Amino acid sequence: MATVYPACAGSPIAHERWLRYCFADERSATTLLPTVVHAIARWWPASLYSAFKIQPDLGCRGDYRCICGPHTSADALRIQDGRTAEGQTEFVTFTGIGYAPAGRMSHGAVWYRNRMVFSWLNPDGYDEASGGTISTDPFVEEVIMMTHELGHGIGFVHEHQRPDAESSNWIVYQPQFLWGYPHASQNPALMADTSFPSHMGAVDRMSRVCNSEPLAQQYFSPALDFMSLAHRTYDYSYLVGSPQYDYKSIMHYSCDDASNAAPHQGFALVKHPARVPRPPRGQEPDYKIWMGGRRRMDERAISNADVARVALLYPLSQEATRAAQGLEAAGGWRAVPFVIPGYFTTTVYPAPTP
Ligand SMILES: [Zn+2]
Repeated sequence: MATVYPACAGSPIAHERWLRYCFADERSATTLLPTVVHAIARWWPASLYSAFKIQPDLGCRGDYRCICGPHTSADALRIQDGRTAEGQTEFVTFTGIGYAPAGRMSHGAVWYRNRMVFSWLNPDGYDEASGGTISTDPFVEEVIMMTHELGHGIGFVHEHQRPDAESSNWIVYQPQFLWGYPHASQNPALMADTSFPSHMGAVDRMSRVCNSEPLAQQYFSPALDFMSLAHRTYDYSYLVGSPQYDYKSIMHYSCDDASNAAPHQGFALVKHPARVPRPPRGQEPDYKIWMGGRRRMDERAISNADVARVALLYPLSQEATRAAQGLEAAGGWRAVPFVIPGYFTTTVYPAPTP
């Protein structure tokens, strides 16, 4: 697995493998630099167990605010603010899966390889009453979403899209609760589509749409980020980074993501009932899943298994990989300082144990 991709470029330090980035333009650097630097810090614990680091492109000479140009390499991850000048979201947020140096893009490479478009700025968050994610600080929300996007750059697919996510009864995928589903199911073109059996009703058609990449592209693109990769035409299965399914991964969507949920119902992704422990008498079973292990945005972190995944993809030594894989049993990774000399110092904390 580690020999396929992502294959990070070389670095000036022999044993390190860098995801090298630059900003698409001045505006992207200005709006996104603080978010990117904090998100780099959030991945730092994984660097302690692997050869992996996120660094400005070599041509940037250590400048974290580096703009892509003739001096940077063509294969740097190009990070772009996806909003229009008026602040409207022009593109959805996305990052090409896996970062690979130019010339090694043979795996059905797509045009946005080595690109990140990030539009998750000035988010609204949710409040307590909605039953969903809680975020009190929009900047923290941006940092968590950037940490997730960098995870795609590192090479990770969504944990909930792992081919075994549904088939092994880890999650229940309920696309009928996705935003836009009612509207999509009333599309006259869907009912007129002769590729479906003529007697098939809207509900069954949408069920096919929500589990088929070409149909979702045509009729309901939000499902593309939720459906099992086992259903997709492109084989991402070798990018699945760890043997254990991980509800707490920074790469797992929260149950309320893209959902039009009323409290306690209508989440697009929930734990399979078989995986939910029986609650104490008088309490409700908890089917909810939260990206980064916590409902509160400011308490989220990469999981122990995320650290282990990085160690599998970018091995430093057998000892380090083993230590990463033993983190969960050892009580998890500890708070660590992160420093960019002369620029930025912080401490990175694991998600608190529930
Ligand atoms: Zn994602």
